[in-house]
Amino acid sequence: MQSERILEIVLDTPLERIFDYKWSGETLPKPGQFTLLNFGRREMVGLIVAVKYESDVPVEKLKPVIAVREQLNPVSRHWIELCQFAADYYQRPLGEVALPAIPKNCRASKTTALDKALKKLAQPLKPIVPSTPPRLNDAQQTAVHKIVQAKGYAANLLYGVTGSGKTEVYLQAASEILARDSLAQILVLVPEINLTPQLFDHLQNRFPEVFVATLHSGMAEGERTVNWLAAHLGKARIILGTRLAILASVPNLKMIIIDEEHDASYKQQEGLRYSARDLAIWRARQLDIPVVLGSATPSLESWQHANTGRYTKLSLPNRAVDSAVLPAVQLIDLSKDKPQDGLTSSLIAALKLRMEKGEQSLIYLNRRGYAPVIACDACGWMSSCTRCSAFLVLHKQEYKLRCHHCSLEVRIPKSCPTCGNADIQPLGRGTQRVEEHLQLLFPQARIRRIDADSTRLKGSAQDAFDTVHRGEVDILIGTQMVAKGHDFKNLTLVAAINPDTALFSQDYRAGERLFSQLMQVAGRAGRAAQKEGGNASKVLIQTRYPQHPLYKSLKMHDYPKFAKDCLQERQQAGLPPFVFQAMLRAEANELQKALEFLNYAAQLPAPEHIIIHSPIPMSLMKLANSERAQLLVESSSRPALQAFLKEWLQQLRDSKNRVKWNLEVDPAEI
Ligand code: ADP
Ligand code: ZN
Ligand code: ZN
Repeated sequence: MQSERILEIVLDTPLERIFDYKWSGETLPKPGQFTLLNFGRREMVGLIVAVKYESDVPVEKLKPVIAVREQLNPVSRHWIELCQFAADYYQRPLGEVALPAIPKNCRASKTTALDKALKKLAQPLKPIVPSTPPRLNDAQQTAVHKIVQAKGYAANLLYGVTGSGKTEVYLQAASEILARDSLAQILVLVPEINLTPQLFDHLQNRFPEVFVATLHSGMAEGERTVNWLAAHLGKARIILGTRLAILASVPNLKMIIIDEEHDASYKQQEGLRYSARDLAIWRARQLDIPVVLGSATPSLESWQHANTGRYTKLSLPNRAVDSAVLPAVQLIDLSKDKPQDGLTSSLIAALKLRMEKGEQSLIYLNRRGYAPVIACDACGWMSSCTRCSAFLVLHKQEYKLRCHHCSLEVRIPKSCPTCGNADIQPLGRGTQRVEEHLQLLFPQARIRRIDADSTRLKGSAQDAFDTVHRGEVDILIGTQMVAKGHDFKNLTLVAAINPDTALFSQDYRAGERLFSQLMQVAGRAGRAAQKEGGNASKVLIQTRYPQHPLYKSLKMHDYPKFAKDCLQERQQAGLPPFVFQAMLRAEANELQKALEFLNYAAQLPAPEHIIIHSPIPMSLMKLANSERAQLLVESSSRPALQAFLKEWLQQLRDSKNRVKWNLEVDPAEI
């Protein structure tokens, strides 16, 4: 008698297990293939991870699979291993990692959308006029050379000041890798969706013959499927995407590039809380290929690795464009130059000068809306969100108060809800208020605001950036959306009008984030050579603390000094990257319940070298009516922490509690 053939299958369920199904068809399926099956009362698509001939479950109890997805090539063993690593490291079931990484259309019970995508993929590329590569400067040349000549795995930290031409290094290294191997594929990650069009154009123009696929969360499902398949089938030689692209199936991956590697958006903040940068390093090591991490302000983790020699540091110390220089940074002391509506006279004068010469200015304020809160002078009432421990933000044009955490919206009250006083006033300012004020100050100026509110419609962010590039904007106001990566050619003034708040945050990473944001935004100025008779490029920082060491390093453009100071502090205080952390978070309808659960978790036995801190309420304690608390776990040994977490979580899963909880390994925010 023929023995049973059994498929081990993972499914997108929170259950930490692999499911056995029977196979009774002709050709035996392979691991890496996808299959349609019945799970409970639902039809689902699962991933085959192994084929075997015995099961712990009696064979007559096993269900047969319905059909194997023949039209979808199997994913590689390497890809499954990548997902398995991510699952283990971030403490999630394999199925919850692997299946969501596949486009929905490939996981649907019907194959109509998948078939359509496959058909679309067969269409020829549009003809493109190629761009010619510029001559590299010496620093760029050395960097490219070092990246491509290394054999096997090599982690390169490309530390290049803003405007130093990191993109050109990526392009020419890519060119070499693609030329060497006719199947080679390259993965390029950027931190934000709105940076993909600029880099896509660079890549497509440089490599007109090559299919450049894009992958990010802003794409329609059909488009996403086509692009994912292009990567999976080896048709796309370059895959450009945001963090989620690190989990793409790329069978002939030969190099990974992470632009702006320090950026916090490489860390996923829900579900599988992974770091795309860390997975990139793992993936490069697994495949024995080079990885390039680029930044003007590397993360302290990467900087530390470069200092200890685990990563190779490649430096681009100067701006690439001839005679383009880093802008002078000037600190404006708010106690001396008193601001009117948030703008100092020095800033206003500098804006005027730019307008006279037809140059562009950028006002950076990382706070959208009109004002962060409205308040009553008579009784002290403030516009709080009823569902969160946060204020409702005034959005004046829409005549709404809106919570930026839970999206609750209410009409602006005509008078104080507590005492009836009709005189309720906005406090502080967001981008909309600055825009309004600037328009009053400079009625002739063409002012454009770019933030999450002004770019809600698909394509509107790109439109806005295009108008800036075409020179149709005099003053650009924006949040961090405008700070990163954009190559504005005619911008000679950048002003940060209210950066101080981040200096006193509880989060030990706030300083690092502020420094890199300011460096990034400062880096938008003076990217082209100064025009004859034009203004020298300049960065103005309005602050009450002009003596603060962070601002001093910024003024000197001295990232290495800043990093050295920070790393020293971190080492003394026992903070990452010198220790490894995980954060257990719990939420319930009452804070007490969340704390009880965490207290239970905290008293479970732990080995000596694991430190479990006391549970505390989160700084945004209440979010959308649930009350939240957190518990920090630390160890100086990563493997010890990993081993502990695995056992600990098992006990937490087995405990009969009603509290919602999650774990973040290497938490981004404390
Ligand atoms: P970064 O990403 O380091 O901030 P970019 O890659 O955007 O800098 O480059 C800044 C500018 O320098 C771009 O306009 C780019 O075209 C130009 N550039 C880069 N390399 C060279 C080079 N070797 N010669 C001339 N211009 C260059
Ligand atoms: Zn009142
Ligand atoms: Zn809210």
